[in-house]
Amino acid sequence: MKAALLYEGKAKKVYQASGNEAQLVLSYKNDATAFNGKKKDVFPGKGRLNNEIAATIFSYLAEQEIESHFIKKLNETEQLVHKTEIVPLEVVVRNIAAGSIVKRLGLREKEVFSPPLVELYYKNDDLNDPLINDEHAKFLTDLTSVELHEIKVKAFEINTSLRLLFQSINLTLVDFKLEFGRLANGRIILSDEISPDTCRLWDKDTEAKLDKDVFRQGTGDLIQVYEQVLERLTNYVSV
Ligand code: UDP
Repeated sequence: MKAALLYEGKAKKVYQASGNEAQLVLSYKNDATAFNGKKKDVFPGKGRLNNEIAATIFSYLAEQEIESHFIKKLNETEQLVHKTEIVPLEVVVRNIAAGSIVKRLGLREKEVFSPPLVELYYKNDDLNDPLINDEHAKFLTDLTSVELHEIKVKAFEINTSLRLLFQSINLTLVDFKLEFGRLANGRIILSDEISPDTCRLWDKDTEAKLDKDVFRQGTGDLIQVYEQVLERLTNYVSV
């Protein structure tokens, strides 16, 4: 199913799909990194969990008519996707204050953003993914003003859909990061992954963190937590 390795990132390997130039195979790794790669560890089983979770979420979004690069799950750790050229932006949507924004703006953790906030970061490890504005984004990427606007509108739509999904499994979607990519025909679609690596998810009753913050902060067992997210999603999806 897969041919040449095209790229290896912190959490995934990207292969050319054999026999179809327009498709890629994403292979989810067991590695976890935080603080721009300064904290690292390997968690056997993480690749399978994130592959399953991302596949479930992308399938749910497709049912809600939100298109992504996801085509199908291939096996425990791999999925087939449409090939896109990733736009070097991290699009973060925030419903509740947590993480970097708390420090940057001196906010109280758990402050609610109504309406939600969208932020753009320049995807560049050497620069530590700096927060940028729309003018910077247009300068640094090949996006037109209209495309940048469409990406933001799409990010809010995805937020609305995902909040409902997570609410139904008793999780609060605090914030998350999206990436978008350009297809060969020029159209821009949702790409990369959506998983507990890229979302903050809090249990609605206990406020327990069920995401990568347990690794960042060293407060829990990453595999147990990701298993719980998958189990809740699977139960919801199979209802
Ligand atoms: N995020 C991500 N990749 C990054 C940076 C952030 O997936 O390189 C996600 C992160 O998991 C969280 C949201 O984006 O759900 C907002 O992250 P934040 O800016 O608070 O940064 P952090 O606290 O993770 O440094």
